[in-house]
Amino acid sequence: MSVVLVTGANGFIALHIINELLKAGFSVVGTVRSPAKGKILDNFKSLYKNPQLVLEYVPDISKPDAFDEVVKNHPEVDYVLHTASPFSFGVGDDNEDVFVKPAVNGTLGILNSVKNYGHNVKHVVVTSSCAAILNFDKFTDHSFVHTEATWNPMPWDIAKTNPELAYCYSKTVAERSARDFVAKEKPGFTISTVNPSYVYGPQLFDETTGDLNTSSDLINQAMKLPHDAPGPFTEPANMGIDVRDVAIAHLITLQNPEKFADARLALACGYFSQQLFLDVLNSRIPELKGKIPVGDSAAGKQYIAENVLTYKFSKTEQLLGVKYISIEDSIYATAKQIVDYESAHK
Ligand code: NDP
Repeated sequence: MSVVLVTGANGFIALHIINELLKAGFSVVGTVRSPAKGKILDNFKSLYKNPQLVLEYVPDISKPDAFDEVVKNHPEVDYVLHTASPFSFGVGDDNEDVFVKPAVNGTLGILNSVKNYGHNVKHVVVTSSCAAILNFDKFTDHSFVHTEATWNPMPWDIAKTNPELAYCYSKTVAERSARDFVAKEKPGFTISTVNPSYVYGPQLFDETTGDLNTSSDLINQAMKLPHDAPGPFTEPANMGIDVRDVAIAHLITLQNPEKFADARLALACGYFSQQLFLDVLNSRIPELKGKIPVGDSAAGKQYIAENVLTYKFSKTEQLLGVKYISIEDSIYATAKQIVDYESAHK
């Protein structure tokens, strides 16, 4: 049985990844900041008879050598999935400390620890992001096609002024650092990155619905708009992907590490805007009808056509061979779980 170390194991995406790994017969070592943060993983005991899952504690991935002890304690680890990284759009006032240090130090930290102590490790997958791919200057230039080869060129001087841009910068520099590390250090393992666009879809365990991760909360915010809120309901507008497909992409990568050496898997199943959230909520969730705005569906589609970047991630689609869940179904699954959870916890 192969053993996978998953960092940030309590995260929205990581819980789905761990679910796929356990289902596929991998054994998992997960890192969380504290025993309290690890509590959510007790739920795997209700899904699997005897889940092959142990937890380790890494309070802050920004700290030098943060992962050394964990990697030393688990010489049996075959693969590493580094998902831990701060993702929010508006906390603190020092964007470098909040985003860049944990993203970059955490990524270089795990790679260094594995190089020094993880002698059994064959492949490391870093969960990067489309944030590392998007060129914000080209959002409305539809002759510019974003692909797996595109990089976010925004300098820190601009990115530091806004938490959303700082987050995108942090993911870009973390991914570049990982690729530079491998080119320079030539470790005994290969790496790949999974670069999802905005991730939607159900929380693996209902209880995290009460404390949503940043991307899922965008749908929650649309669900809480008063019915007479003034439009237009255009932003946020971008590309999205379902969390279940993100998890499967991580799993497939580990099942074929040679095929995916150096790969950059860019994941998107379609475009969304806040208007698309409203369209799906109004048409598929009867509990919300009349409570939220209707907006203007045609105007929403036009906004996307004119203002949202062009992409072509066919290389990834060919490599993975996965038929993605549609963006509408992903939005629906997110919202339905929130509605059901809130009605059960009134
Ligand atoms: P979550 O916020 O649910 O998970 C993030 C994880 O990282 C949590 O376990 C969090 O721990 C941990 N973490 C963050 N900062 C630190 C730190 N300084 N020290 C230790 N642990 C830390 O986010 P997601 O599941 O959405 O994101 C997972 C990964 O996917 C991230 O790398 C993110 O950048 C990437 N991603 C996410 C997208 C999305 O739309 N959701 C899109 C593209 C990429 P704790 O809970 O204790 O804070």
